[in-house]
Amino acid sequence: MTARRIDGQEVARARHQDIARRSQAVTKARGRPPCLAALSIGDDHAWRVYQRRQRRLCGQLGLNYHDASLPADCPQDQLLAAIDQLNADEAIDGIIIQAPLPAGCATDVIQERLCPIKDVEGINPANLGLVVAGRDGFAPCTARAAWTLAQAAATDVRGMEAVVVGASVIVGRPVAQLLLAAEATVSVCHIATRDLAFHTRRADLLVVAVGKAGLITADMVRPGAIVIDVGINRIVDAAGQAQTVGDVDPGVWEVAGALTPVPGGVGSLTTTILVENTVAAAERR
Ligand code: NAP
Repeated sequence: MTARRIDGQEVARARHQDIARRSQAVTKARGRPPCLAALSIGDDHAWRVYQRRQRRLCGQLGLNYHDASLPADCPQDQLLAAIDQLNADEAIDGIIIQAPLPAGCATDVIQERLCPIKDVEGINPANLGLVVAGRDGFAPCTARAAWTLAQAAATDVRGMEAVVVGASVIVGRPVAQLLLAAEATVSVCHIATRDLAFHTRRADLLVVAVGKAGLITADMVRPGAIVIDVGINRIVDAAGQAQTVGDVDPGVWEVAGALTPVPGGVGSLTTTILVENTVAAAERR
């Protein structure tokens, strides 16, 4: 069997027209477009690449984009003050903060400071709580992207055996909650799971979000399963070339029924979800 490719770019593009229409409606009603603010700290290459994508997509879909920059060594107080300013700014609808944070900045303190209605990245525990309650909060963008691709591949996840590998607050746990809300039977595996393959082999739907290249091999996947690979890993291949790969070994293409590629899968949809959440935040305000 060769797995069907679940194309993140295609799923993203299919949402763009609706986001642009909603953005236009907000602009008409309020006299200004929705606005996403990015809080950058220092000059991180990966973040700048991500930011370019955010800015381009905002422009394409009719949103404003605001870049607020802080020095690499900014102390926590300065970062909190910058968040307060964006929280209070009437012209800003959504806020995203660069990660990882500088040394000395406590992630939980920063996440909690973000105004929940502007937290379009879904990192404030208030939003995570709404997701757990099955209510209308912003789920973290990567989790929402993984869930959206699972929906694109499965006609109905209700009753499916869903296994999530990785239990981070930003990806694994919220994905599990979104699957649970859709009435899948969900197991979450993590570093202390005794026999990972026992669980993954039972999965009709397998979501992998760990950050270990080749963690999931073909013998760990049930034939025909839907596999969502969230992992992003930089490796050097046998020919000495640097490559971006997921957590799923290429051999899984021969076993799975459908699989997200890396790159071109979950990561391709994440920015679209971020922009979509910004429009939703503007609509709510
Ligand atoms: P993370 O915070 O490091 O969490 C990884 C999770 O996997 C943790 O729960 C960890 O447990 C668990 N784990 C580690 N080794 C394991 C193993 N051998 N078996 C089972 N579970 C294991 O990472 P994250 O932020 O969730 O990100 C996960 C991956 O997704 C990374 O590759 C990241 O680059 C990628 N990612 C992609 C996007 C995107 O847009 N596509 C966005 C964000 C992240 P412990 O913490 O207990 O060790």
